[in-house]
Order: sequence, then structure tokens, then C-alpha cells
Amino acid sequence: MIDFHCHLDLYPNPHAVAAECASRNLYVLSVTNTPSAWTGSSKLGSASPRIRTALGLHPQIAYERKGELPLFEKLLPQTSYVGEIGLDGGQEFRQYWSDQVTVFTTILDACARAGGKVLSIHSRHAATPILDALKAQPDVGTAVLHWFSGKQGELKRAIEYGCWFSVNFSMISSIRGRTIVEGIPRNRIITESDGPFARVGRNPAVPWDVGRTVAVIAEIWGVPEIVVKEQILLNFRTLTTQGNLARD
Ligand code: MN
Repeated sequence: MIDFHCHLDLYPNPHAVAAECASRNLYVLSVTNTPSAWTGSSKLGSASPRIRTALGLHPQIAYERKGELPLFEKLLPQTSYVGEIGLDGGQEFRQYWSDQVTVFTTILDACARAGGKVLSIHSRHAATPILDALKAQPDVGTAVLHWFSGKQGELKRAIEYGCWFSVNFSMISSIRGRTIVEGIPRNRIITESDGPFARVGRNPAVPWDVGRTVAVIAEIWGVPEIVVKEQILLNFRTLTTQGNLARD
């Protein structure tokens, strides 16, 4: 199974969670919120070759961490994965919008100059500006929209641009989220936990909760779980081996 967006370094016991992922043979994309967290977080990947660490600068803290952009550029050659990055148009973060845009577009430019990366992108209340930025910089690599919550028209546009989508249990627990999942092409979907921020019931989500998400996707698609598992594994292989945005 695959958890393509997890904040492994933010669990109270990150080494135990990484070890559990290793023993369950999970593929994990361990995203980070600041460039200064990347080196330490990467060490969690020593638990398993299936754990990869993405270099990120989260939009919700872009205003206070924009000074880490030079560090971001310095570390970028060390990884093929970038995230968590993006824009957040929510009320509480709108006051820092210009810092968010500066950080996000600087990162997109750096990814394009580096020949393309796989990007895990936060687009809360910001799907249209995210898509505008991806249109303006088409050589960033492969964009994976994590926990997408945009409108149907924005979903359609994202699909046209070759975006992928990582979906979690919280997302597909709402009608709106399920409707989005129904609209995602089966060859562009991947699972994530967004743990420990997202929750499953009363608990912070853990990477192996992706099994529950697979079960719900199977219900939505009307197929056995094994079909979903195989499709997502195939998608994961495609996603992690292709160099550029799929333009099918
Ligand atoms: Mn996240």
C-alpha cells in the first residue's frame, strides 16, 4: 500500500511510526513543512528504502519561513520529491497571500530549472491560483494535488493539465470529497494519510490507514478492493518513474 503524503516527522514518536511502515512494507512519501526540517526528517527514511522524503515549505507558514528559500534551493538536488508546498486561500492565511505566492512560484521555478520533480501540493481554497501557477510554469514535473477540495470546474481543469490526486480518509468521508473521487481518472489517483494532521475517528491518521481509503474507493468504483490496490500500485509506479507531467 501507498501513503503519498504523510508528515512522518510530526508524530510524537516518528521512529516508531517509520519502523511500523517498514514492517508493513508501506511506500511512504514523507513530506516536510520547512527546508530546515528536511535533513533530520530524511533520517527517518533509513528505516526502509520505501520511505522517501520530500522537501517542502508549507503555505501556511510561508510568511515566517520565506527566509529558508535559499536553503530550499541548496537542498533541492538531493531529492526528486517536493512537498508540502502550495497556496492556502483560507481566511486566516489570506493576509500573507503575497508571501505565499512568492514562495510557491520561486519553488516552481526552481523545480523547472532542476528538470522537474514530483510535487505534493496543498490547494485549500486556492485551486484556481494553483492551476494558474502550474499553467504559467509547465515544466515543474508532476503535480500531485493533495486533499483536493476545489470545484468541479477546477477538477476538470486540473485533469486537463495532467495533475494527479492523492486522497485520504477524511476527504472521502464527505459527500463532496466522494464526488471529487468519482471525477478523478482511475489512472491519476493515489492514496495518502496526511497524518498526523488528518484524523481517522478520534485519532490522528497513521500511514496504514490508507487501507480504509482503498476500501472506500472500491465502494465508489464498484469493484473489489484488490482491483483498487493493483490500480494504485500501478499508478504509483507510473508516478515515480515518469519525468514530466503526463499530457495524455
Ligand atoms: Mn499535509
